[in-house]
Amino acid sequence: MPQTLFISDLHLDRERPHIITLFNRFLQQQASHAEALYILGDLFEYWIGDDDPAAGLESVIDSLKALSDKKVPVFFIHGNRDFLIGKRFSARTGCHLLEDFKIIDLYDTRTLIMHGDTLCTDDKAYQSYRAKIRNKLVLRILSSLSLGLRQKIARYLREKSRRETEHKTADIMDVNQHAVEQAMLTHNVSRLIHGHTHRPAMHAFELQGRQAIRYVLGDWYTQGSVLRCTPHGCQLDEVS
Ligand code: MN
Repeated sequence: MPQTLFISDLHLDRERPHIITLFNRFLQQQASHAEALYILGDLFEYWIGDDDPAAGLESVIDSLKALSDKKVPVFFIHGNRDFLIGKRFSARTGCHLLEDFKIIDLYDTRTLIMHGDTLCTDDKAYQSYRAKIRNKLVLRILSSLSLGLRQKIARYLREKSRRETEHKTADIMDVNQHAVEQAMLTHNVSRLIHGHTHRPAMHAFELQGRQAIRYVLGDWYTQGSVLRCTPHGCQLDEVS
């Protein structure tokens, strides 16, 4: 049966080589039988620009390229950790970069896909940071800085995020249901797939009298997580 795979929040990092191995195997085996693979952000723990040699992550680039070469299209939406992934990465891996919010026809169901951070509207501090860092002008300035300076900024931002996250309640860091419904109504969809919160689940609810469904992808910290969609529906699975 045809299937389309969705993953996110792998947070690949040379400090966790076993997850890199797990992901490479996932691409070589499971993903090579799929009709398409969608990576909904935070593939990497951080990505400070396509000019970064990204030591220790070369095998990931190669596996993505090998999958594209097998004619399995790979699509990528930026996460909050790897929004500096750009055209050069895309050319090296064969991944197609998509805009932040994308509607796809998934076996005849209009489906909205995104990273998911924009749905966490209760986290006001994060949303104001996001608005600044993802501003086009700021992005242009960031990209023009030296690699060394970008490394320093990235390290500072990761530290800051870690400190702030410690003091935020679990509620604040989850999606806001109103934001979810607004996004689904705006894009006229009954199905939403996103990651970011690391709370893998299926949420069914009613939206203006229609059955709506939201799938949340899981992270890849201790094992992998994938959403498999077929013409019969979607299912969250572990990858190990
Ligand atoms: Mn994220």
